Amino acid sequence: PMLGQEPGRAYRLGVMGGTFDPIHNGHLVAAEQAFDDLELDTVVFMPAGRPAFKQDKQVSEGEDRYAMTLLATADNPHFLASRFEVDRAGITYTADTLERLRAIYPENVEIYFITGADAIADIVRWRDAERLSRLAHLVGATRPGYDLSHAQRAIEESGIRFDVTYLEVPALAISSSYLRERVRHGQSLRYLTPDAVTGYIHKHQLYGASQLGYGSKP
Ligand code: ATP
Ligand code: MG
Repeated sequence: PMLGQEPGRAYRLGVMGGTFDPIHNGHLVAAEQAFDDLELDTVVFMPAGRPAFKQDKQVSEGEDRYAMTLLATADNPHFLASRFEVDRAGITYTADTLERLRAIYPENVEIYFITGADAIADIVRWRDAERLSRLAHLVGATRPGYDLSHAQRAIEESGIRFDVTYLEVPALAISSSYLRERVRHGQSLRYLTPDAVTGYIHKHQLYGASQLGYGSKP
């Protein structure tokens, strides 16, 4: 058992998976809200590996995506960045990753897999969906007023019993694609992602960023 943990209480581990190209405040706020609302003990951010067949430069190097994830989560005592998937070659199935986490954490652990609500419809159709439903609860981040019927229908059609909790996250409109587009246009990322991430993007000239920083055209 973990220090300071009530005896008998399961360790509640949040897992936030994604490409994180780059990580942004939407991801961070959603994870923090899940941490509070579901009384999690830790949230692990897990940037996905880059499949060997997808070397078309559409996705940044795992090392860069991991570094930005680490920088973004470093000042939060209950966030962790994991390089588990980035270090593995080829595709990693989420269920495999969650099984590995179960092996690392104490016996008595509950996993909460945090995702955008629109991603839920895809997840329930994954080939490891059944296994996933037995390994983790799902947490779907939704925009206030978002229509959940699509996600709900996909779950019903899967015939798998998923445990899903929906969370309303006002910052849901922020996306990595939007940040990449802003960088390409020489626009600031201030208040959209932590400054350390912006610094890293410019230092490594990701997404066509200038090394000079904000406001300089590539
Ligand atoms: P892209 O624009 O390239 O699709 P993204 O912003 O969706 O990137 P991902 O790394 O694909 O980022 O997302 C990782 C996880 O975070 C996914 O489950 C996604 O649904 C969720 N997510 C993405 N943006 C937000 C947001 N603004 N608020 C909460 N969750 C988000
Ligand atoms: Mg996305």
